[in-house]
Amino acid sequence: MTLNIKNHPCFNDSSRHTFGRIHLPVAPKCNIQCNYCSRKFDCMNENRPGVTSKVLSPRQALYYLQQAMEISPNIAVVGIAGPGDPFANPDETMETLRLVREHYPEMLLCVATNGLDLMPWIDELAELQVSHVTITINAIDPEVGSEIYAWVRHKKKMYRDIEAAKLLIGNQLEALKRLKEVGVTAKVNSIIIPGINDGHVIEVARKVSELGADILNCLPYYQTTETLFENIEEPSPVVVAEIQKATSEFLPQMKHCARCRADAAGIIGEINSEEMMLKLAEAAS
Ligand code: SF4
Ligand code: SF4
Repeated sequence: MTLNIKNHPCFNDSSRHTFGRIHLPVAPKCNIQCNYCSRKFDCMNENRPGVTSKVLSPRQALYYLQQAMEISPNIAVVGIAGPGDPFANPDETMETLRLVREHYPEMLLCVATNGLDLMPWIDELAELQVSHVTITINAIDPEVGSEIYAWVRHKKKMYRDIEAAKLLIGNQLEALKRLKEVGVTAKVNSIIIPGINDGHVIEVARKVSELGADILNCLPYYQTTETLFENIEEPSPVVVAEIQKATSEFLPQMKHCARCRADAAGIIGEINSEEMMLKLAEAAS
């Protein structure tokens, strides 16, 4: 198999039944607090909540990948998407990407992040031929953002309210622009939160399209307990479809995202096999 970006099953509908992906759960910490996220679960920007992943060191992750490839040789993409944020754990994330690239020169590499601390790593990501990066951008207006993010921690300093949202949004947009300058395929995820940003996602789409984003993934907010938003109901499929239609004026839409676990392995939509879960547990021990 050669490094072929068309094989990414999330970005190419025609590849999703043929090629698999694996998430390596090497990034436990997070640098922001989204009001829809309970830290008991995985990052909800990309992953399904309610699934507690094992956390692996970079070496354990490589071992797990080697074992997983024996079970699922069709894995074409290695992704890092939590369970926290990859760049709140930059040493673990970058070391894992370097190890995978060294051992699997043909593998597609993919990262999903909130974007706060992405910028300093973009040039090395491009050198490592990380071909796909996802940034979750839920707002471009800090007033809206201040309702979504409780705090942001950046360079050892805590920010709250509008200052936190301003910093996060500024860093996200700057990183998106840079990703496109270095030729990385950039997906933007926007979580639709009724009453908070459902009327604003269209503005997010307009702005990120101007900055060169390749594809937009409008995801329904996932209601869960023990969060500030626990009383907000999930948007209906009709609302999600309307927003996808409206934002498609600006960007192609990803519609088959399955909100995989931070340790998902194999074909999208299929649950991890027992054998794969055993390999993960073995790697973590
Ligand atoms: Fe939770 Fe992910 Fe938001 Fe961090 S970025 S608070 S892990 S949803
Ligand atoms: Fe692909 Fe979505 Fe799963 Fe990420 S969460 S691996 S984008 S299907």
